[in-house]
Amino acid sequence: MEITEVRVKLITNKDDRLKAFCSITMDNEFVVRDIKVIEGTNGYFVAMPSRKMSDHCEKCGGKNHLRAKFCNNCGTQLADNRARKDAQGRMKLHADIAHPINAECRKKIQEKVTAAFKEELERSKQPDYKPVEMDEPDDEVPEIV
Ligand SMILES: [Zn+2]
Repeated sequence: MEITEVRVKLITNKDDRLKAFCSITMDNEFVVRDIKVIEGTNGYFVAMPSRKMSDHCEKCGGKNHLRAKFCNNCGTQLADNRARKDAQGRMKLHADIAHPINAECRKKIQEKVTAAFKEELERSKQPDYKPVEMDEPDDEVPEIV
C-alpha cells in the first residue's frame, strides 16, 4: 500500500493538543478521513479516526457514554468503571474506525502524515496561505496511547 495523498487542515486553537485533521489517500483509490495530529510530550503523533464507545442502561435500554454516572434517558444510577480496560489498565473510551494492523504500516502512516503536517505548517506562515477546505469532525481528542 502506498499513501498517495495527504490533506492537512490545521487547527489554530493554540491551547489545544489537537493540531490538525488529515485525510489520506491509499493507492489513489481509497480515502480515510478524520485522522488527527496531536502534540504529545514526545513530539507529534498521529491518531486514527475513532468513535466514542457507549453502552445501554440495564433498566431502560437508553444509550449512554461510558463515563456517564446516570442514564441520560431514565436517570438510573449506572455502575462505575463500565469501560473495558486496556493492557495498561486505562479505560477504553474510544474505538478505532480504521487503523493499521502492523507496526510497519503504522510507521508509514505516522511518517507521511507528520511530514505533510510540518509542510502545511510551513506553508501556513506565508501571507497568501489558503487553508485546506475540510469538514471537521465534532469529537474529543483521544487519550494518548
Ligand atoms: Zn435508563
